[in-house]
Amino acid sequence: MTQYPALHMVIDGERVSGGGRRTHAVVNPATGEVIGELPLADAADLDRALDTAQRGFRVWRDSTPHQRAAVLQGAARLMLERQEDLARIATMEQGKPLSESRIEVLMNVGLFNFYAGEVFRLYGRALVRPSGMRSTVIHEPVGVVAAFSPWNFPLGNPGRKLGAPIAAGCAVIMKSAEETPASALGVLQCLYDAGLPKEVAQAVFGVPDEVSRHLLGSPIVRKLSFTGSTVIGKHLAKLAAEDMKRTTMELGGHGPVLVFDDVDVDAVLNTMVPHKYRNAGQVCVSPTRFIVEEGVFARFRDGFVERAKTIRVGNGLDDGTQMGPMANARRPEAMDRLITDAKSRGGTLHTGGERPGNLGGANAGFFYAPSVLSEVPLDAEILNEEPFGPVAIINPFAGEAAMIAEANRLPYGLAAYSWTTDAKRQQRLMREIETGMLGINTTMIGGADSPFGGVKWSGHGHEDGPEGLMACMVTKAVHEG
Ligand code: NAD
Repeated sequence: MTQYPALHMVIDGERVSGGGRRTHAVVNPATGEVIGELPLADAADLDRALDTAQRGFRVWRDSTPHQRAAVLQGAARLMLERQEDLARIATMEQGKPLSESRIEVLMNVGLFNFYAGEVFRLYGRALVRPSGMRSTVIHEPVGVVAAFSPWNFPLGNPGRKLGAPIAAGCAVIMKSAEETPASALGVLQCLYDAGLPKEVAQAVFGVPDEVSRHLLGSPIVRKLSFTGSTVIGKHLAKLAAEDMKRTTMELGGHGPVLVFDDVDVDAVLNTMVPHKYRNAGQVCVSPTRFIVEEGVFARFRDGFVERAKTIRVGNGLDDGTQMGPMANARRPEAMDRLITDAKSRGGTLHTGGERPGNLGGANAGFFYAPSVLSEVPLDAEILNEEPFGPVAIINPFAGEAAMIAEANRLPYGLAAYSWTTDAKRQQRLMREIETGMLGINTTMIGGADSPFGGVKWSGHGHEDGPEGLMACMVTKAVHEG
């Protein structure tokens, strides 16, 4: 039986805890029980991590592609061996069903193996020049990366934050979410056990604003990689701009789903409904705004509600659970606020909108029922703010132009989905929808080899794919006379 591990930071390879440091209580969201005490960094810890990272970068930028590939492949193998333990720890601290946590391990395995191959394809370029002159374009690792990752993918987010910089030859100081520290430490341990030098990657935790100001205030850090809300992303981008640090910003979304009259409604629902409630809707690419053509609207809405009512909500560790609790107490509060506002403006709540209690044991946990709203006015808060929870909003629209206009109405542009059998329309949607990722007749919009990122307020830059690796490199042009 997996035990929740003792918590610590890792600075210069040393497990750091105690010593009168402040702590943060880690809570199991299914039960409300405190399962760990996480030490928080003070300024001296962060300075030590910065000095170490500076040394780490000098070590790792000179590593060979073979060394980096061996570490990444070794870590991928270890994650697979430790899959069950890692998944259980992630579910204990984040709440999602075990099956979803196991998939996070596989995402990391896929990404690390992909980068292990990609390190051999970091090609430069020779320019055509008159004889006697040689010009070369080379790519070099950017330097020390400060990587801040959130709680919704406790294993997958740290995998992304560590994988690309390590493949590129950078050093990383990772601050993953204080809510889900053990999962991040588990991923990091696989890298150490696969031979990563201890200076190259470190884990700190702390008061987020203190840590980010301290690390981004240091000239040692040359890149910020952040996943989280647009509000915090804008704040951090401003801090990074003070020192012209490079940034990769994976921010919020409000995923439109365009459903046209020409589809098989049941087939779409059978795919979209589970996708909506994955991780209790706490996914940046979660489908949120269902923009449905009038002819199929009533069937789509009723079929959605019927399926949402059958979802088994419970402790993610229990067999048969299809949706776990929300990750922290802030999320059910946000759901109540957004759903109350939508109803007060005339929207209809068909199911959910409440907190089922006692699903996880002695205490109530942070559960929220799968919810469906329809005919919600466009000025409702929930149609303008990222809901980040288990609620679908289904509205009818008259025809393609109105549907595309609604998809593009918000300043977000992360993931969008569309369902139509009309090939010409598919081409138009591909061109017209303002988004970083578009699924046409599919929910599968990611993969180790595919760039993941948004446009507009959803951020800039990419993780995954060759683009994710290049985001950790700088380019130098060398001209020899
Ligand atoms: P939040 O915006 O306070 O925190 C989001 C993440 O950013 C957390 O991991 C947090 O530790 C980190 N963070 C916050 N302030 C920071 C700072 N100054 N420096 C560095 N890191 C900082 O909000 P929350 O209550 O945890 O989540 C609320 C909203 O955040 C959600 O509604 C959603 O919009 C967004 N969010 C997005 C993602 C994503 O995958 N893009 C993940 C989690 C949360």
